[in-house]
Amino acid sequence: MARAWKPEGTRVRVGQVEVGGPGFVVMAGPCAVEGMEQTEQTAAAVAAAGAHILRGGVFKPRTSPYSFQGMGEPGLRVLAEAARKVGLPIVSEVMESTQLPLMEDYVDVLQVGARNMQNFPLLRALGKVRKPVLLKRGLAATIQEWLLAAEYVLDGGNDQVILCERGIRTFETATRNTLDLAAVAVAKQRTHLPVIVDPSHATGEPELIQPMALAAAAAGADGLMIEVHPRPEQALCDGQQALTPERFQQLMRRLPGVLSAV
Ligand code: PEP
Ligand code: MN
Repeated sequence: MARAWKPEGTRVRVGQVEVGGPGFVVMAGPCAVEGMEQTEQTAAAVAAAGAHILRGGVFKPRTSPYSFQGMGEPGLRVLAEAARKVGLPIVSEVMESTQLPLMEDYVDVLQVGARNMQNFPLLRALGKVRKPVLLKRGLAATIQEWLLAAEYVLDGGNDQVILCERGIRTFETATRNTLDLAAVAVAKQRTHLPVIVDPSHATGEPELIQPMALAAAAAGADGLMIEVHPRPEQALCDGQQALTPERFQQLMRRLPGVLSAV
């Protein structure tokens, strides 16, 4: 996947959107799909603010087995309906290859979460799929390990891979994870794949999401993934880091200034 092999870079097409092209692509939505009202409200808000792809998890990789695990298949139907109403494509996490046939019916981009970055059987299965893959960097993965994980998908015959830096675990505890912005520049230097940044999981705190999103744009990222919830205090997953629709709108208004300056 060396950059030299494809200097112009890979463009990943998702419906009308292209990741890795001249445009900056924003994926936004709830951490987890919780129901029709919450998902439709969020979809309408992020679409109105200018997001390009709707995110929402239905299979949630939770630290505790007693936490909300996601709605599963009914959640996919909710997500698809909400996305259809606002005309946005969908990105959602696949946790195991047995979920692929179902996910492929509803989802435009298949997300591999940080905890599954080195699930090699899953990566191999995604190499055989004809849909784009969003590969998040593992919680404690080096850049090299992340890029080699992407290579598993490419090697299987699927070159539609988007890399996502979402923060790594370090000695620092002031933020949920440590956003490694240099990884964006390194990945862009070493590979031909598009790279996006998820400042929501990287920082874990609404106040820090906007500055880190703007910094990611300045660092050369091809896009962002942001968690948004209409009522963060009631969210079933990651409410502490969710942006309200108003805050998301504010971030979207500030992005063009940074993008036009770099
Ligand atoms: C998510 O995007 O909801 C998620 C679980 O992210 P990560 O895999 O980066 O922790
Ligand atoms: Mn989340």
